[in-house]
Amino acid sequence: MTVPYLDCNASTPVDDVVRQRMGDVLQMTGNASASHASGRAMAALVDDAIDQVAALTAFSSHEVVVTSGATEANAIALRGLPDVQHVLVSPLEHASVRQEMAALQRSGVEVEELRVDVHGRVRLDDLQQKLRPTTSLVSVMGASNLTSVVQPIEDIADVLDGHDALFHVDGAQLVGKRVDAVPARVDLLTLSAHKFFGPQGVGALCIRDRVADVVQPLVVGGGQQDGRRGGTLPVALVVGMGEASRQCLLQHVERAERCRAFGVDVLRALDDVGARVLGEARHRLPHGLCAVFPGVEAEAAQMLLGSVCEVSLGSACDAGQVTESPALTAMGIGLAQQASVLRMSWCHLTDDVDWTRFVDVIRQLQPR
Ligand code: PMP
Repeated sequence: MTVPYLDCNASTPVDDVVRQRMGDVLQMTGNASASHASGRAMAALVDDAIDQVAALTAFSSHEVVVTSGATEANAIALRGLPDVQHVLVSPLEHASVRQEMAALQRSGVEVEELRVDVHGRVRLDDLQQKLRPTTSLVSVMGASNLTSVVQPIEDIADVLDGHDALFHVDGAQLVGKRVDAVPARVDLLTLSAHKFFGPQGVGALCIRDRVADVVQPLVVGGGQQDGRRGGTLPVALVVGMGEASRQCLLQHVERAERCRAFGVDVLRALDDVGARVLGEARHRLPHGLCAVFPGVEAEAAQMLLGSVCEVSLGSACDAGQVTESPALTAMGIGLAQQASVLRMSWCHLTDDVDWTRFVDVIRQLQPR
Protein backbone atom coordinates (compact mmCIF):
# COMPACT_ATOMS: atom_id res chain seq x y z
CA MET A 1 0.00 0.00 0.00
CA THR A 2 1.29 3.45 -0.83
CA VAL A 3 1.59 6.02 1.91
CA PRO A 4 -0.96 8.88 1.57
CA TYR A 5 0.72 11.82 -0.13
CA LEU A 6 0.06 15.15 1.57
CA ASP A 7 2.33 17.37 -0.48
CA CYS A 8 0.08 18.49 -3.32
CA ASN A 9 1.34 22.09 -3.08
CA ALA A 10 4.68 20.71 -4.26
CA SER A 11 3.09 18.73 -7.11
CA THR A 12 -0.30 17.14 -7.66
CA PRO A 13 -0.98 13.71 -9.13
CA VAL A 14 -1.76 13.72 -12.85
CA ASP A 15 -5.47 13.41 -13.65
CA ASP A 16 -6.39 10.13 -15.42
CA VAL A 17 -8.02 11.91 -18.37
CA VAL A 18 -4.95 14.13 -18.72
CA ARG A 19 -2.62 11.11 -18.75
CA GLN A 20 -4.72 9.40 -21.37
CA ARG A 21 -4.84 12.43 -23.68
CA MET A 22 -1.11 12.96 -23.34
CA GLY A 23 -0.49 9.30 -24.17
CA ASP A 24 -2.49 9.71 -27.38
CA VAL A 25 -0.48 12.78 -28.39
CA LEU A 26 2.80 10.99 -27.70
CA GLN A 27 1.83 8.51 -30.40
CA MET A 28 1.76 11.35 -32.91
CA THR A 29 4.60 12.91 -34.89
CA GLY A 30 4.98 16.52 -35.90
CA ASN A 31 6.14 20.00 -35.02
CA ALA A 32 3.39 22.52 -34.29
CA SER A 33 5.31 25.16 -36.26
CA ALA A 34 5.45 23.10 -39.47
CA SER A 35 2.97 23.87 -42.23
CA HIS A 36 2.32 20.33 -43.53
CA ALA A 37 -0.61 18.23 -42.33
CA SER A 38 1.25 16.67 -39.37
CA GLY A 39 2.34 20.10 -38.16
CA ARG A 40 -1.13 21.52 -38.60
CA ALA A 41 -2.63 18.67 -36.59
CA MET A 42 -0.21 19.42 -33.76
CA ALA A 43 -0.93 23.16 -34.00
CA ALA A 44 -4.67 22.48 -33.77
CA LEU A 45 -4.11 20.49 -30.57
CA VAL A 46 -2.03 23.33 -29.14
CA ASP A 47 -4.66 25.94 -30.08
CA ASP A 48 -7.38 23.93 -28.42
CA ALA A 49 -5.31 23.43 -25.27
CA ILE A 50 -4.49 27.13 -25.05
CA ASP A 51 -8.20 27.95 -25.40
CA GLN A 52 -8.78 25.79 -22.32
CA VAL A 53 -6.08 27.59 -20.34
CA ALA A 54 -7.60 30.91 -21.42
CA ALA A 55 -11.06 29.76 -20.31
CA LEU A 56 -9.67 28.79 -16.90
CA THR A 57 -7.86 32.09 -16.35
CA ALA A 58 -10.27 34.47 -18.11
CA PHE A 59 -7.49 35.75 -20.36
CA SER A 60 -7.78 35.66 -24.16
CA SER A 61 -6.13 32.75 -25.93
CA HIS A 62 -3.62 34.98 -27.71
CA GLU A 63 -2.56 36.38 -24.31
CA VAL A 64 -1.34 32.96 -23.10
CA VAL A 65 2.38 32.25 -23.52
CA VAL A 66 3.42 28.65 -22.85
CA THR A 67 6.47 28.21 -20.61
CA SER A 68 8.23 25.33 -18.87
CA GLY A 69 6.40 26.15 -15.64
CA ALA A 70 5.87 28.87 -13.09
CA THR A 71 9.58 29.52 -12.53
CA GLU A 72 10.10 30.49 -16.16
CA ALA A 73 6.82 32.42 -16.29
CA ASN A 74 7.91 34.47 -13.28
CA ALA A 75 11.28 35.10 -14.91
CA ILE A 76 9.68 36.37 -18.14
CA ALA A 77 7.27 38.54 -16.16
CA LEU A 78 9.90 40.12 -13.95
CA ARG A 79 13.05 40.24 -16.08
CA GLY A 80 13.72 42.70 -18.84
CA LEU A 81 10.97 45.16 -17.99
CA PRO A 82 12.22 48.53 -19.22
CA ASP A 83 12.45 51.62 -16.99
CA VAL A 84 11.67 49.90 -13.72
CA GLN A 85 12.29 52.24 -10.78
CA HIS A 86 10.33 51.12 -7.77
CA VAL A 87 8.86 47.67 -7.16
CA LEU A 88 6.55 46.41 -4.42
CA VAL A 89 6.56 42.71 -3.63
CA SER A 90 5.18 40.55 -0.85
CA PRO A 91 7.62 38.78 1.47
CA LEU A 92 5.66 35.54 0.95
CA GLU A 93 6.81 34.91 -2.59
CA HIS A 94 8.29 31.72 -3.98
CA ALA A 95 12.06 31.63 -4.54
CA SER A 96 11.54 32.10 -8.29
CA VAL A 97 10.10 35.56 -7.60
CA ARG A 98 12.48 36.37 -4.76
CA GLN A 99 15.51 35.63 -6.94
CA GLU A 100 14.22 37.90 -9.71
CA MET A 101 13.66 40.64 -7.14
CA ALA A 102 17.20 40.23 -5.84
CA ALA A 103 18.49 40.59 -9.41
CA LEU A 104 16.41 43.75 -9.94
CA GLN A 105 17.82 45.14 -6.72
CA ARG A 106 21.39 44.39 -7.82
CA SER A 107 20.72 46.31 -11.02
CA GLY A 108 19.77 49.40 -9.02
CA VAL A 109 15.99 49.05 -8.84
CA GLU A 110 14.41 49.93 -5.50
CA VAL A 111 12.55 46.82 -4.32
CA GLU A 112 10.35 47.28 -1.27
CA GLU A 113 8.59 44.52 0.62
CA LEU A 114 4.97 44.84 1.66
CA ARG A 115 4.05 44.00 5.23
CA VAL A 116 1.80 41.05 5.94
CA ASP A 117 -0.44 40.48 8.95
CA VAL A 118 0.04 37.59 11.38
CA HIS A 119 -2.38 35.54 9.28
CA GLY A 120 -0.11 35.77 6.26
CA ARG A 121 -2.05 38.27 4.12
CA VAL A 122 -0.61 41.36 2.50
CA ARG A 123 -1.65 44.51 4.35
CA LEU A 124 -3.57 46.87 2.10
CA ASP A 125 -2.80 49.89 4.30
CA ASP A 126 0.90 49.19 3.76
CA LEU A 127 0.38 48.97 -0.01
CA GLN A 128 -1.47 52.28 0.01
CA GLN A 129 1.33 53.85 2.03
CA LYS A 130 4.20 52.50 -0.08
CA LEU A 131 2.66 52.94 -3.54
CA ARG A 132 4.31 55.89 -5.30
CA PRO A 133 3.56 57.58 -8.63
CA THR A 134 6.86 56.04 -9.81
CA THR A 135 6.04 52.46 -8.74
CA SER A 136 6.38 50.41 -11.92
CA LEU A 137 5.53 46.93 -10.67
CA VAL A 138 3.56 45.22 -7.91
CA SER A 139 4.03 41.45 -7.54
CA VAL A 140 1.91 39.43 -5.11
CA MET A 141 1.23 35.69 -5.23
CA GLY A 142 -2.34 34.44 -5.63
CA ALA A 143 -2.13 31.91 -2.81
CA SER A 144 0.75 30.84 -0.63
CA ASN A 145 2.52 27.56 -1.32
CA LEU A 146 3.24 27.38 2.41
CA THR A 147 0.01 28.39 4.17
CA SER A 148 -2.50 28.01 1.30
CA VAL A 149 -3.76 31.47 2.30
CA VAL A 150 -5.29 33.39 -0.60
CA GLN A 151 -3.99 36.93 -0.96
CA PRO A 152 -6.35 39.93 -1.29
CA ILE A 153 -5.83 40.13 -5.05
CA GLU A 154 -9.18 41.85 -5.74
CA ASP A 155 -8.49 44.49 -3.08
CA ILE A 156 -4.97 45.07 -4.39
CA ALA A 157 -6.45 45.46 -7.87
CA ASP A 158 -8.80 48.11 -6.47
CA VAL A 159 -5.91 49.99 -4.85
CA LEU A 160 -4.04 49.89 -8.18
CA ASP A 161 -7.05 51.07 -10.17
CA GLY A 162 -6.00 54.12 -12.18
CA HIS A 163 -2.29 53.59 -11.33
CA ASP A 164 0.17 52.73 -14.10
CA ALA A 165 2.08 50.01 -12.19
CA LEU A 166 2.16 46.56 -13.74
CA PHE A 167 0.39 44.04 -11.53
CA HIS A 168 1.93 40.56 -11.58
CA VAL A 169 0.32 37.63 -9.77
CA ASP A 170 2.15 34.35 -9.31
CA GLY A 171 -0.94 32.18 -9.50
CA ALA A 172 0.88 28.83 -9.30
CA GLN A 173 -1.08 27.83 -6.19
CA LEU A 174 -4.34 29.55 -7.09
CA VAL A 175 -5.08 28.76 -10.73
CA GLY A 176 -7.09 25.56 -11.01
CA LYS A 177 -8.10 25.62 -7.36
CA ARG A 178 -10.30 28.67 -7.42
CA VAL A 179 -11.87 30.01 -10.60
CA ASP A 180 -12.89 33.64 -11.22
CA ALA A 181 -10.18 34.69 -8.80
CA VAL A 182 -8.10 36.87 -11.10
CA PRO A 183 -9.50 40.36 -11.72
CA ALA A 184 -9.06 42.20 -15.02
CA ARG A 185 -6.57 44.61 -13.41
CA VAL A 186 -3.99 41.81 -13.19
CA ASP A 187 -1.59 42.39 -16.10
CA LEU A 188 0.57 39.28 -15.77
CA LEU A 189 -0.50 35.91 -14.41
CA THR A 190 1.80 32.96 -13.78
CA LEU A 191 0.53 29.38 -13.68
CA SER A 192 1.95 25.88 -13.59
CA ALA A 193 0.17 22.73 -14.82
CA HIS A 194 1.62 20.35 -12.23
CA LYS A 195 -0.14 22.27 -9.48
CA PHE A 196 -3.55 21.42 -10.94
CA PHE A 197 -3.30 17.77 -12.05
CA GLY A 198 -1.44 18.46 -15.27
CA PRO A 199 2.08 17.33 -16.15
CA GLN A 200 5.33 18.74 -14.78
CA GLY A 201 7.43 20.92 -17.06
CA VAL A 202 4.75 23.13 -18.55
CA GLY A 203 3.01 26.31 -17.46
CA ALA A 204 2.13 29.72 -18.81
CA LEU A 205 2.50 33.42 -18.42
CA CYS A 206 -0.72 35.21 -19.33
CA ILE A 207 0.10 38.67 -20.62
CA ARG A 208 -2.68 41.21 -21.17
CA ASP A 209 -2.67 42.80 -24.61
CA ARG A 210 -2.31 46.24 -23.08
CA VAL A 211 1.14 45.38 -21.67
CA ALA A 212 2.30 42.99 -24.40
CA ASP A 213 4.90 45.46 -25.71
CA VAL A 214 6.46 45.93 -22.29
CA VAL A 215 7.32 42.28 -21.62
CA GLN A 216 10.50 41.15 -23.34
CA PRO A 217 11.12 37.51 -24.30
CA LEU A 218 13.88 35.62 -22.51
CA VAL A 219 14.31 33.12 -25.34
CA VAL A 220 13.75 34.19 -28.93
CA GLY A 221 14.91 31.10 -30.81
CA GLY A 222 12.84 30.30 -33.89
CA GLY A 223 10.24 32.94 -33.09
CA GLN A 224 7.59 30.50 -31.89
CA GLN A 225 4.59 31.87 -29.99
CA ASP A 226 4.79 35.15 -31.94
CA GLY A 227 8.36 35.66 -30.77
CA ARG A 228 7.33 35.81 -27.11
CA ARG A 229 9.00 32.50 -26.18
CA GLY A 230 11.06 30.56 -28.67
CA GLY A 231 11.42 26.80 -28.79
CA THR A 232 9.40 23.92 -30.22
CA LEU A 233 6.21 23.55 -28.24
CA PRO A 234 6.00 20.29 -26.25
CA VAL A 235 2.58 19.37 -27.64
CA ALA A 236 1.83 16.47 -25.27
CA LEU A 237 2.61 18.67 -22.25
CA VAL A 238 0.55 21.55 -23.62
CA VAL A 239 -2.37 19.23 -24.33
CA GLY A 240 -2.01 17.90 -20.78
CA MET A 241 -2.16 21.43 -19.39
CA GLY A 242 -5.21 22.21 -21.54
CA GLU A 243 -7.04 19.07 -20.48
CA ALA A 244 -6.14 19.72 -16.83
CA SER A 245 -7.59 23.24 -17.21
CA ARG A 246 -10.77 21.84 -18.72
CA GLN A 247 -11.17 19.31 -15.92
CA CYS A 248 -10.63 22.03 -13.31
CA LEU A 249 -13.40 24.14 -14.79
CA LEU A 250 -15.71 21.13 -14.92
CA GLN A 251 -14.92 19.74 -11.48
CA HIS A 252 -13.60 22.48 -9.22
CA VAL A 253 -16.70 22.60 -7.01
CA GLU A 254 -16.74 18.84 -6.28
CA ARG A 255 -12.99 18.76 -5.88
CA ALA A 256 -13.02 21.62 -3.37
CA GLU A 257 -15.81 19.87 -1.48
CA ARG A 258 -13.70 16.69 -1.20
CA CYS A 259 -10.76 18.77 0.00
CA ARG A 260 -12.92 20.50 2.59
CA ALA A 261 -14.12 17.16 3.97
CA PHE A 262 -10.52 15.88 4.16
CA GLY A 263 -9.53 19.11 5.91
CA VAL A 264 -12.04 18.49 8.71
CA ASP A 265 -10.11 15.34 9.70
CA VAL A 266 -6.78 17.13 9.40
CA LEU A 267 -7.95 19.92 11.69
CA ARG A 268 -9.30 17.45 14.25
CA ALA A 269 -5.95 15.64 14.40
CA LEU A 270 -4.04 18.92 14.66
CA ASP A 271 -6.33 20.03 17.44
CA ASP A 272 -5.68 16.75 19.31
CA VAL A 273 -1.94 17.45 19.36
CA GLY A 274 -2.23 21.18 20.09
CA ALA A 275 -0.83 22.33 16.74
CA ARG A 276 -1.43 25.97 15.78
CA VAL A 277 -2.63 26.40 12.22
CA LEU A 278 -1.32 29.51 10.47
CA GLY A 279 -3.72 31.72 8.56
CA GLU A 280 -7.45 32.21 9.03
CA ALA A 281 -9.75 29.44 7.81
CA ARG A 282 -11.87 31.90 5.80
CA HIS A 283 -8.84 32.88 3.72
CA ARG A 284 -7.28 29.43 3.34
CA LEU A 285 -7.84 27.28 0.29
CA PRO A 286 -9.43 24.00 1.37
CA HIS A 287 -6.41 22.20 -0.13
CA GLY A 288 -3.81 22.73 2.55
CA LEU A 289 -2.36 24.43 5.56
CA CYS A 290 0.76 24.74 7.64
CA ALA A 291 0.94 24.55 11.39
CA VAL A 292 3.33 25.00 14.29
CA PHE A 293 3.67 21.82 16.38
CA PRO A 294 4.97 23.17 19.71
CA GLY A 295 7.99 21.29 21.03
CA VAL A 296 8.16 19.03 17.96
CA GLU A 297 11.11 18.99 15.61
CA ALA A 298 9.41 19.08 12.19
CA GLU A 299 12.19 17.16 10.47
CA ALA A 300 11.96 14.31 13.01
CA ALA A 301 8.16 14.34 12.61
CA GLN A 302 8.45 14.14 8.84
CA MET A 303 10.70 11.09 9.18
CA LEU A 304 8.66 9.31 11.86
CA LEU A 305 5.45 9.98 9.95
CA GLY A 306 7.04 8.30 6.93
CA SER A 307 4.71 5.29 6.97
CA VAL A 308 1.60 7.32 7.97
CA CYS A 309 1.62 10.14 5.42
CA GLU A 310 4.07 12.27 3.46
CA VAL A 311 4.25 15.85 4.70
CA SER A 312 6.57 18.74 3.99
CA LEU A 313 8.64 21.06 6.18
CA GLY A 314 7.82 24.73 6.73
CA SER A 315 11.46 25.62 6.40
CA ALA A 316 14.37 23.52 5.30
CA CYS A 317 16.85 22.16 7.79
CA ASP A 318 20.45 22.08 6.67
CA ALA A 319 23.02 20.22 8.79
CA GLY A 320 20.94 20.73 11.92
CA GLN A 321 20.52 24.46 11.24
CA VAL A 322 17.08 25.77 10.35
CA THR A 323 17.13 27.78 7.13
CA GLU A 324 14.96 30.79 7.67
CA SER A 325 11.72 30.95 5.71
CA PRO A 326 11.20 34.61 4.78
CA ALA A 327 7.46 33.98 4.54
CA LEU A 328 7.27 32.58 8.09
CA THR A 329 9.48 35.37 9.42
CA ALA A 330 7.19 37.95 7.81
CA MET A 331 4.28 36.34 9.65
CA GLY A 332 6.08 36.79 12.96
CA ILE A 333 7.19 33.16 13.38
CA GLY A 334 10.65 33.15 14.97
CA LEU A 335 13.45 30.88 13.81
CA ALA A 336 13.06 28.47 16.75
CA GLN A 337 9.36 28.01 15.99
CA GLN A 338 10.06 27.62 12.28
CA ALA A 339 11.79 24.34 13.06
CA SER A 340 8.40 23.08 14.31
CA VAL A 341 6.36 23.94 11.22
CA LEU A 342 4.91 21.23 8.99
CA ARG A 343 3.06 21.84 5.73
CA MET A 344 0.27 19.52 4.67
CA SER A 345 -1.55 19.80 1.33
CA TRP A 346 -3.97 17.44 -0.31
CA CYS A 347 -6.46 17.10 -3.17
CA HIS A 348 -9.62 15.25 -4.21
CA LEU A 349 -7.49 12.17 -4.99
CA THR A 350 -5.68 11.95 -1.65
CA ASP A 351 -6.01 8.62 0.17
CA ASP A 352 -7.39 8.53 3.70
CA VAL A 353 -4.84 8.93 6.46
CA ASP A 354 -4.83 6.91 9.68
CA TRP A 355 -5.20 9.98 11.89
CA THR A 356 -4.97 7.95 15.11
CA ARG A 357 -1.47 6.86 14.11
CA PHE A 358 -0.66 10.43 13.07
CA VAL A 359 -1.63 11.73 16.51
CA ASP A 360 0.35 8.93 18.22
CA VAL A 361 3.52 9.77 16.28
CA ILE A 362 3.29 13.49 17.06
CA ARG A 363 2.60 12.77 20.75
CA GLN A 364 5.72 10.58 20.90
CA LEU A 365 7.74 13.59 19.81
CA GLN A 366 6.16 16.07 22.17
CA PRO A 367 7.99 16.93 25.39
CA ARG A 368 6.36 15.38 28.43
N1 PMP B 1 5.46 29.82 -7.55
C1 PMP B 1 4.83 29.17 -6.56
C2 PMP B 1 3.91 29.93 -5.65
C3 PMP B 1 5.04 27.80 -6.39
O1 PMP B 1 4.42 27.14 -5.41
C4 PMP B 1 5.92 27.12 -7.27
C5 PMP B 1 6.18 25.63 -7.13
N2 PMP B 1 6.52 25.22 -5.85
C6 PMP B 1 6.55 27.84 -8.28
C7 PMP B 1 6.29 29.19 -8.39
C8 PMP B 1 7.48 27.18 -9.25
O2 PMP B 1 6.73 26.39 -10.12
P1 PMP B 1 7.37 25.40 -11.22
O3 PMP B 1 7.66 24.14 -10.47
O4 PMP B 1 6.27 25.21 -12.20
O5 PMP B 1 8.55 26.06 -11.80
